[in-house]
Amino acid sequence: MRLPIIAANWKMHKTVKDSLQFAEEFIEMLGEDHKGIEIVICPPFTALYLLGKRLRGTGIEAGAQDVFWEEWGAYTGEVSPGMILETGAKYVIIGHSERRHILGEGDTAVNRKVKRALASGLVPIMCVGETLAEREEGRAVSVVRRQLEEGLKGVELLRPHLVIAYEPVWAIGTGVNASPQDAQEMSRLIRDELGGLFGVEVAQEMRILYGGSVNPGNIGGFVAQPDIDGALVGGASLEARSLADIVKQT
Ligand code: PEP
Repeated sequence: MRLPIIAANWKMHKTVKDSLQFAEEFIEMLGEDHKGIEIVICPPFTALYLLGKRLRGTGIEAGAQDVFWEEWGAYTGEVSPGMILETGAKYVIIGHSERRHILGEGDTAVNRKVKRALASGLVPIMCVGETLAEREEGRAVSVVRRQLEEGLKGVELLRPHLVIAYEPVWAIGTGVNASPQDAQEMSRLIRDELGGLFGVEVAQEMRILYGGSVNPGNIGGFVAQPDIDGALVGGASLEARSLADIVKQT
């Protein structure tokens, strides 16, 4: 049995004050009604410590949106795994398409980040997904396969402490979600690929999320798929009501 995850990616939204206000509303709305599902909220770095502190004991986890691959040093602007762990956060998003496509992050950087995060005890949520042009050229599968192989090169995994988010770039923030069937097809391929890398047993226990314009109305169709274990949610995670409804529909 894989425990579903709903992970909220707030991107560059919400101040510390907004984040804490969200937490109050969300905890109240959720009540005790979230057993059997893992909820992870990934705010901007500035809010991570205080939000994580507020979430402690609620069963809701905090996560970071990125991490660097060194622990200390002259890396202006970067944040290390140890610094993230110190805030109480457990998860970290790595290789989000906005980092890949806006900030030029490649598979090698993603790979370094994944390795270092795992070695430090953070659980990476590694994102993969094709652009619209790649899909239209019939390259969606080969792109996702490459991102998995390169991103996970040299990674040893004896336990399923790694989450993959399949996020077709054309579905992120556009209001146009992939069909649950297409997302399932890619998730099955991802699980097969993970089986080849880490063995079938570990791959069967790993969580694969779908991301791309998920909302309370469409989450049910995704989590009904045999290889989809939850979602990475951007826009619809910014309102407490909408995130609580997504959790309830999962
Ligand atoms: C995301 O940021 O990972 C995402 C899936 O965004 P949205 O839900 O807004 O498409």
